[in-house]
Amino acid sequence: YQRLRRGLARTSSQLTGQIASLFTKRKLDEATLQDLEDLLIQADLGVETAMRITDTLSSERYGKDVTGEDVSRIMAGEITKVLAPVAKPLELDLSHKPHVILVVGVNGTGKTTTIGKLAAKLSGAGLKVMLAAGDTFRAAAIEQLKIWAERTKSDIVASKLGADAAGLAYEAYQLAREKKSDVLIIDTAGRLQNKAELMAELEKIVRVLGKLDPDAPHTVLQTLDATTGQNALQQVEIFRNVAGVSGLIMTKLDGTARGGILVAISAKHKLPVYFIGVGEGVDDLEPFEAKDFAEAIAG
Ligand code: GDP
Repeated sequence: YQRLRRGLARTSSQLTGQIASLFTKRKLDEATLQDLEDLLIQADLGVETAMRITDTLSSERYGKDVTGEDVSRIMAGEITKVLAPVAKPLELDLSHKPHVILVVGVNGTGKTTTIGKLAAKLSGAGLKVMLAAGDTFRAAAIEQLKIWAERTKSDIVASKLGADAAGLAYEAYQLAREKKSDVLIIDTAGRLQNKAELMAELEKIVRVLGKLDPDAPHTVLQTLDATTGQNALQQVEIFRNVAGVSGLIMTKLDGTARGGILVAISAKHKLPVYFIGVGEGVDDLEPFEAKDFAEAIAG
């Protein structure tokens, strides 16, 4: 929790600083409410949540003095209401052997790193984990995943650069069954520059996995980079349609002033948020807690 506070310090200090200067010696009136709403929208929280916060503040304090603490308390409360329904732990159904997790997302959003962190958690909990290097377009991604496999004592399936990703996913699934792995985590490419091709590839991976088990992939995880702000909203839209995203992990919440975007995404998409990434290290993947996150943002 302390790490989350530190990580979100930039998001919250920017916001609370601005809010404090807004409310010096001013009674709450329409103009102040409007200014506050603008601030909240600029902080990436989304129009809907910004309005909820100003409405609640207005109904409690209209015409009266308002302190920064009043605003923080109301913000934390309203943000918690948005986040509570999406803060869900990642649940694995180990009656599937393996439970298949497909990881999707735009390049650079932290897919490979998050897979490594997740593999560490799962193998640390005593599960047998296999990784599949499905980003067959980038040599670095394959190498990176191999390193993570070694570090986390996971099995790895990789192929040559440029190999068919769906073929690799299928092979990995069969192998994971033979080896009785508990969890198979499949990395994928995220080249948005070639969107049509990427989408076709993801669709094919999902289709091919479904041949071995109609419920597979059992979890489709999308990684989002907090520092990209509003872009992340669109990324969910794109991947959700093609790959049937079942939940999100937001990375790079350490040291960004744009952590508010997770609130806008949650309000809009209502997809579970399983974890948040708060650093590059193997332990920097935290379960997502609505109230802690809301309070860390609201200051
Ligand atoms: P991919 O292209 O989606 O596989 O992304 P990578 O896993 O290679 O990550 C891209 C960069 O972001 C790497 O330098 C990672 O170390 C870094 N990264 C990933 N997650 C986090 C995070 O939570 N916090 C920080 N600060 N950096 C991260």
